[in-house]
Amino acid sequence: MWVDAHLHLDAPEFDADREAVIARAIAAGVGLMVSAGTSVEGSRRAVALAEQYPNVRAAVGIHPSAAGDATPGGLDALAALARHPRVLAVGEVGLDYYREGVERRRQIDAFRAQIRLAREADLPLVVHDREAHADVDRILEEEGATKVVLHCFTGTPERALRCAAAGWMLSLAGPVTFANAGALREVAKRIPIDHLLLETDAPYLAPAPVRGRRCEPSFLVHTACLVAAVREMDGDALASRIGDNARRIFSVDGSPERPAGR
Ligand SMILES: [Zn+2]
Repeated sequence: MWVDAHLHLDAPEFDADREAVIARAIAAGVGLMVSAGTSVEGSRRAVALAEQYPNVRAAVGIHPSAAGDATPGGLDALAALARHPRVLAVGEVGLDYYREGVERRRQIDAFRAQIRLAREADLPLVVHDREAHADVDRILEEEGATKVVLHCFTGTPERALRCAAAGWMLSLAGPVTFANAGALREVAKRIPIDHLLLETDAPYLAPAPVRGRRCEPSFLVHTACLVAAVREMDGDALASRIGDNARRIFSVDGSPERPAGR
């Protein structure tokens, strides 16, 4: 059984065929999908989907591009959502210095507040980091965050090894399959397997050979296939290790999500 550690099933891109998208993922062997919110409202939608679909669980969080949501009232609403039994992480949270729609100071304040919220809820953090590696790593260390998933990991193999040594999980998405992603494939090859997760970030970042299409969770198998090849591992063995990692970091027992016959 594969685990898609990060995607956005609440996105409007799935409004027309969400049920079929989830069914295709399960048929492709993706038994657990962690659907992340990017705002308070989006987090509510993620929780509703996790209530509706047995193979879906939710992460709740305010994305740096929506940092304006991180008011005292917004954070209280998030803390309440974080206590829901179908919620297994706080995310996606973090820093985005690529888009710069929200000033850095506000992004950092929202990030720190949600790191504390995750600690109080005893949940792992799912972290978005775009062109902000140094600040993300520094703030996570300053706040003493230990249960961390760096979603759609980017960066050098050296950074990857440092993050793994800090005990953090690295989640690889579609970009590891792109033709120009030699450094990311090096990351996929060299990080200790106990720190590896896979994700689609659907509806974004479809992997090769379906790059450019709307991404959906069944496409995880393309990324998984590439990572298995790079690590010279059998696909089933990789799936089993990634499943163990996901169950450990997200504190889920796999049985309710296991599709029939797998
Ligand atoms: Zn995402």
